[in-house]
Amino acid sequence: MVWPAARVPREQSDKPLPGFKLAYPMLSADGSATGFSGVTLGRAHVYRAIDDAICVHGSRHSCPSRWCDCGFYCFNDAGPARDLACEPDYRGAVLLEVAVSGRYRRYERGLRYSRQRVRSVELGRCECGRSASVLADSGTGSLGWRKLVPVCATCAGDRPVLTGDGFGRLSGGTVTVTTEAAAAGVSPLGTLVGSESAAGAVVVLGAELALMQARLDEMQRRIDELTRAGEDERPGGGEAG
Ligand SMILES: [Zn+2]
Ligand SMILES: [Zn+2]
Repeated sequence: MVWPAARVPREQSDKPLPGFKLAYPMLSADGSATGFSGVTLGRAHVYRAIDDAICVHGSRHSCPSRWCDCGFYCFNDAGPARDLACEPDYRGAVLLEVAVSGRYRRYERGLRYSRQRVRSVELGRCECGRSASVLADSGTGSLGWRKLVPVCATCAGDRPVLTGDGFGRLSGGTVTVTTEAAAAGVSPLGTLVGSESAAGAVVVLGAELALMQARLDEMQRRIDELTRAGEDERPGGGEAG
């Protein structure tokens, strides 16, 4: 990723600026603390709910540097972050709403900056398509950290899980965890299933109508035959009497 950092002036904000980004939720090895890992740059680094950026390339300069692509990144709006969450590589990531402070640089759709506070975490979808409600161990992680994955109650089964409130508490009590259903109001997949059922019903009704029509045609054919037979009998019925 190449950001046009050299062309934009460095800025400093005393007032926190809002931002949105994707991240993977993490739980420390002893289960006493939470963190987040980046989805692109700095994937291996885990940051806390309130943290300062470090150079992920190992340099000692302060972030964000004009000559380096390190630092925290965020979008100005939730939309691009939600769009990114649809890509297969980012399934399992959660949507963070962050407050940006300290030194920052602007890029087309967001900011690259030095200090961040995570305000809220939205869990998004379970792998099965339902809205996720809890966090489970994904089976992967990095040194000292287990990577968590958002799952729905059905898929969680009897696996040990961390609730949204639990995650918020372990994050220092300043992070609110929400589920997609609460945030989005309705599940678009629910509508999809509904319209699929409606389409299915139309197909079934269509088949039944075709069957009824065939039966009516058959009845009409037999009525016609009987009528014709009756008509044939009448003129020829000249019995002597
Ligand atoms: Zn750097
Ligand atoms: Zn599920």
